[in-house]
Amino acid sequence: MPPIHVRFRRFTSLNTTIRIREGEIYASLSDLLEGAPDSVLHAIAHILLAKLYRKPIDPAHNLRYKRFASSAPVTRQTELIRHARGSKRFFGPEGRYFNLDEVFDALNTRFFGGLLGRPELTWSEHHAKRSLGHYDAAHNTIVVSRVFDRPSSPRYAIEYLLYHEMLHLKHPVRARGLRRCVHPPEFKAEESRFPQLAEALAFIKRL
Ligand SMILES: [Zn+2]
Repeated sequence: MPPIHVRFRRFTSLNTTIRIREGEIYASLSDLLEGAPDSVLHAIAHILLAKLYRKPIDPAHNLRYKRFASSAPVTRQTELIRHARGSKRFFGPEGRYFNLDEVFDALNTRFFGGLLGRPELTWSEHHAKRSLGHYDAAHNTIVVSRVFDRPSSPRYAIEYLLYHEMLHLKHPVRARGLRRCVHPPEFKAEESRFPQLAEALAFIKRL
């Protein structure tokens, strides 16, 4: 067996990494896992070694780890740590052509009876095309990609992106067993009520 070095590091998530260097194994685990029960640490060790040596992962170990990672106390702790440690850059709602706060307020009145609390809204740093919009629960922030902040963007496309993220505020992600259900049926039903849904999706596709 090669020498193995394990250390706990200050990650902002449950990150674990393993690599082999000059015949020695180095594993880094998030310090969030430091207090995990032995059976969970055992499962993590199994998973990491299986990955390193490209061997099948025992489903029982996988299940044990997933159960632990998706348990309510662990998820809450991860969010708290992420909030405290993650220094998120914030660019604000005022773009060159569109103001996200203004779009949010209009949608809130139109579709939600003004009842949604407004989270932080910000344009993304870069002209991201892979993530057009997302809601970050840890920072209570909706981020919209800056690619939409241009005169050629139809307002309904930005409205649709924000409307989708606002539905995430209204329908928080709930754990269904081990799988996270991000867009439950009632979410999709409500989304389909957006008047220019087809046009918005077509615009996004062209983008
Ligand atoms: Zn979504």
